[in-house]
Amino acid sequence: MEFWVNNTRILLKRDDITKQDTEAIVNAANSSLLGGGGVDGAIHRAGGPKILEECKQIRARQGGCPTGEAVITTGGNLPARYVIHTVGPVWHGGRHGEADLLRNAYKNSLLLAKEKGIRSISFPSISTGAYRFPIEQAAGIAVASVQEFAAQNIIPTEIRFVLFSDEVLLVYRLAWEKALQ
Ligand code: ADP
Repeated sequence: MEFWVNNTRILLKRDDITKQDTEAIVNAANSSLLGGGGVDGAIHRAGGPKILEECKQIRARQGGCPTGEAVITTGGNLPARYVIHTVGPVWHGGRHGEADLLRNAYKNSLLLAKEKGIRSISFPSISTGAYRFPIEQAAGIAVASVQEFAAQNIIPTEIRFVLFSDEVLLVYRLAWEKALQ
């Protein structure tokens, strides 16, 4: 399924993010940058040890990555040239700034991509796995953040949401259709 916002093509697909051939893929990392389960584990497994080495160098420089921020490494053995590691919020009931922090995670990933001249990027469903952010709300935030960025910036010209199940894909599709109304 595809949508356009000005010159940016936005794709929603059910797939494995580690297989994407976009210039960058986004990792739903944790602030230690030392790897974890879910998308994070899959990316480090598929990309090999170089990604973790670079994450450790970033840690040595800046001591990890705060929630809502993003850092970049190369993609190691992945088809993608870069991995943008962002840290979504852990859900603590919704009154701890979770929505703003999730918005920041998408926005700062896109800003970093733009800064690097990256033209195509894939996002997973940040925070909706181990971090337990309610999926409908997270999808609404993800879609609105990407839509807003694409309306104001020329690159990236392709943004993919790569979702791991039909259920999650459907939630994102409904969020997208709602945003267009
Ligand atoms: P978080 O810790 O931010 O909640 P998770 O990695 O636990 O992140 O989960 C985020 C979403 O990513 C979940 O919907 C999960 O099913 C999905 N996911 C897990 N592995 C992959 C993968 N290889 N490609 C795309 N999505 C994935």
